[in-house]
Amino acid sequence: MSKYLELKSVSKKYQQQNKEELVLKNVNFSVKKGELAAILGPSGCGKSTLLKLIAGFIKTDQGIISKEGRIIRGPGLDRIMLFQDFEQLFPWLTVLNNIIFALKASRKTEKNSFNFWPGQFRQDLKLLAKEYLAKVKLSQYQDYYPHQLSGGMKQRVALARTLAVQGEIMLMDEPFASLDSQTRQDLQQLLSDLQLNNSRTILFVTHDIREAVFLADKIIVLKDNPGEVISVLANNLPYPRQRSSEQFNQLSEKITSLF
Ligand code: ADP
Ligand code: MG
Repeated sequence: MSKYLELKSVSKKYQQQNKEELVLKNVNFSVKKGELAAILGPSGCGKSTLLKLIAGFIKTDQGIISKEGRIIRGPGLDRIMLFQDFEQLFPWLTVLNNIIFALKASRKTEKNSFNFWPGQFRQDLKLLAKEYLAKVKLSQYQDYYPHQLSGGMKQRVALARTLAVQGEIMLMDEPFASLDSQTRQDLQQLLSDLQLNNSRTILFVTHDIREAVFLADKIIVLKDNPGEVISVLANNLPYPRQRSSEQFNQLSEKITSLF
């Protein structure tokens, strides 16, 4: 299945002070199942808008977005979003319960009630939540509340939550952008390692060229005013990716020269 997620001639306008502003113009690209595609571009070029369109939170003005040949018309549990914001956890739930809550919400029964859940299933969800907390190396913090954690730790919990839910498509909007550079590199490594073992379909928005080169199988490069795709590059650098390697730097420079 080559065209798992597909955008065809997608345009989006926003109403800004009595005039319409074209934010995304004629965007075309596709993403394969299990591929990590980076959406790379300067601040304000429409990256978040693009993710919101794919999430179904907002509608296109022109063009279509489809998954497995079916047009996306609104939000769905098949697409899960991870934001940049450190405050995306529920402050009144512990770290572990934040993940369990998301797992429950993503597996709602038709009766739409958590009370129908058998005990065994609750245990399974707890185990799953613990497994993903271990992956982000936060097991010993499972009973902490978000306010007791650093920004980087909160972002690790949010990442664990997103990965545990196992939505078919993960939409990540600059999830590591607010982190210090060491934490950012650690989380990039973690995500890359997890992708090697169990590849998910991920759209990863970033304005950081080297982050895109480190993580992505495919890099979709956008310019601004209006947001337009200027290049789609395959990234075939071998794993584990070495940030200091010649190939890594060559690809980074090639992308820099596009702007
Ligand atoms: P990016 O994520 O690449 O920084 P955005 O998608 O957030 O870009 O925004 C692209 C452009 O659209 C910006 O100029 C922004 O100000 C504008 N914009 C974003 N959301 C809205 C909105 N809801 N209404 C009007 N303009 C918006
Ligand atoms: Mg944005």
